[in-house]
Amino acid sequence: MSRRKLIAANWKMYKTPEKAKSFFTDFKPLVKGDAERVEIVVCAPFPLLQVCVEAARGSAIEVGAQDLFWECEGAWTGEVCGDMLSAVGCSHVIVGHSERRQYFGETNQIVNKKAKAALAAGLIPIVCIGETLDEREAGSTDYVLKRQYLEGFDGVSAEQMTRMVIAYEPVWAIGTGRTATPEQAVEAHRVIRAEIDKSFGEEIAAAFRILYGGSVKPENAASLLTQEEIDGALIGGASLDPKSLASIVHYRG
Ligand code: PEP
Repeated sequence: MSRRKLIAANWKMYKTPEKAKSFFTDFKPLVKGDAERVEIVVCAPFPLLQVCVEAARGSAIEVGAQDLFWECEGAWTGEVCGDMLSAVGCSHVIVGHSERRQYFGETNQIVNKKAKAALAAGLIPIVCIGETLDEREAGSTDYVLKRQYLEGFDGVSAEQMTRMVIAYEPVWAIGTGRTATPEQAVEAHRVIRAEIDKSFGEEIAAAFRILYGGSVKPENAASLLTQEEIDGALIGGASLDPKSLASIVHYRG
């Protein structure tokens, strides 16, 4: 089963509207014609989303958010719901990024509610899972991944599963410059895919996209993305520069 690669940028809390606009001015021509081969999504901070949607017009580049709240509306000061994101033109939303788990106390149960809220709003959730360095060193990587998957995807239907993406992001590789080896990433992806197979069967598991995230850069993109098991990448630091993101899109084996 061949799965179209997905390259997702996570801008985290960087850029102003002007810088976002200028990113698209430079990035669009660099990836013109690449959409058939690779799907590209830029996940920007909330105040930049509309600017990004407008700037991406006329290209195949999609825009996503980095978080959402699980309620549809109400007295939730400071929160943003899925319908608001779809209404401004977002197609995707990152859910359960390790920085949200670590600094904002997001549990697998919260991730589950957010992923379902994203689906209900017609968004594709990019659900992040991954082990910490301590967990890897303790030999509990598989256990952690299975638990994050089982709890994070609890109650998800087969139909919903076809509209979701997982990003395997070992916490020790995020923003550290330390990348998982292709072998480590493939091994973790296989563990996750086997769980999907157990819960939803072979057809859904075989079509499901699992991205790798953690210090992906132009220099290591090909070694990771040419692995059949790796369906794309979620990229933080290296996604802020248009040339750097474009060269990841243009990875070659
Ligand atoms: C991320 O933010 O999801 C990420 C993988 O960051 P970086 O590429 O900077 O490690």
